[in-house]
Amino acid sequence: MRASTLLNSLLGLSGVRAGKTAVCDGELRVTVSLRRRRLCCPQCSFSTGHRYDTREVDSSWRHLDMGGRICRILLRRRRLRCPDHGVLAEGVPFARPDSRHTRDFEDLVAWLVTKADKTTVSSFARVAWRTVGAICERVVADVLDPDRLCGLVDIGVDEISWRKHHRYLTLVSDHDSGTIVWGKPGKDTDTLGAFFDELPDGGASLEAVSMDMGPAYAKAVRERAPAAVICFDPFHVVKVVTDALEAVRRQVWQAARTLPDQRIAKTFKGARWALLKNPADLTDTQAQTLREMKRNGGILWRAYQLKEALREVFAGDLDTATVAELLNRWCARAQRSRIPEFIKAGRTIRKHRAGIDAALERGLSNGRHEGLNTKVRLLIRRAYGFHSAKAALALILLACGPVTLKLPYHTGGHPHSCQ
Ligand SMILES: [Zn+2]
Repeated sequence: MRASTLLNSLLGLSGVRAGKTAVCDGELRVTVSLRRRRLCCPQCSFSTGHRYDTREVDSSWRHLDMGGRICRILLRRRRLRCPDHGVLAEGVPFARPDSRHTRDFEDLVAWLVTKADKTTVSSFARVAWRTVGAICERVVADVLDPDRLCGLVDIGVDEISWRKHHRYLTLVSDHDSGTIVWGKPGKDTDTLGAFFDELPDGGASLEAVSMDMGPAYAKAVRERAPAAVICFDPFHVVKVVTDALEAVRRQVWQAARTLPDQRIAKTFKGARWALLKNPADLTDTQAQTLREMKRNGGILWRAYQLKEALREVFAGDLDTATVAELLNRWCARAQRSRIPEFIKAGRTIRKHRAGIDAALERGLSNGRHEGLNTKVRLLIRRAYGFHSAKAALALILLACGPVTLKLPYHTGGHPHSCQ
């Protein structure tokens, strides 16, 4: 086999011919030329046989490593004039527009970042974390199923904080497929309004939308899809009560801080997860904290018991009528608790009762939603440090959206072997 044939086969880049090869600063640099004579616009499908001028643009792309070395593809690009995009350097078949990486390299990074943490991705691929964010954005634009917003029936809307200081994303999930189909920075009525703008049928197929008990999303649904039933799923009902419990814990902790014995305050400060986690998931230390709290009794222990009682209402495999009855009893109990946060939580639940019952009747269960939510939260932590909300959103859609990510080695015959 000739060396040039071998090199072309190793690179695996379509539409180019490998030329001069050099090792520079430890990197393998391969100069290539395009096989096609026509010039293509990188932004659209326009192509032409005419160069705009004789100038050539020196360009380089990072490709998959070869033998452990960073590999760069070098090419002098000609210029063309596109009627829509003006004068620009021609597009290449092996890279997405405006990228300094080949498509294969980007696909590898996108696959990896949905499976592994930040440090693993950055050190394995040898790219800055910001670059990973930009790669996610480009890949998701390419692989997201364009039909994902057609014929949606049951959907869920959620807000999630993607960064400190109240930076939020609104996410829409499809309850049938268990995937996230849409997202946008922000969390108000207009944010969700933009989702309805993008729906091909304007929301005519929607039957139910589940959400939290805040007013913003409900308003958008009432305005844009008035036929859809607004549901408050168990996940969000329990959240109202875990928020109440957290408010009580913070008050108890603040009060304990003024005491001479600082150890007590420390116990309450560290108790957050012990109180919020399901009892079955507690670590030994957290279980110990909880036992201490039980011994001391007091308002926080009563609040904890109320939270657990509500969680159990939805945790069991009970029929709708039983759950409804247990919920009535829970609200009465909260009313009598003499804990202001829980009296308020009971009132909130009662006020939104029609939507809660609607969720129960439609079987919008906890398990699946919680699973998706846990996954999103894990990814959001990974997206900390991305430069933009769009990049964080792109990562979530790559990992939880209706997409099939392929490793570059598997684009041929084995689409499923890389899952
Ligand atoms: Zn163009």
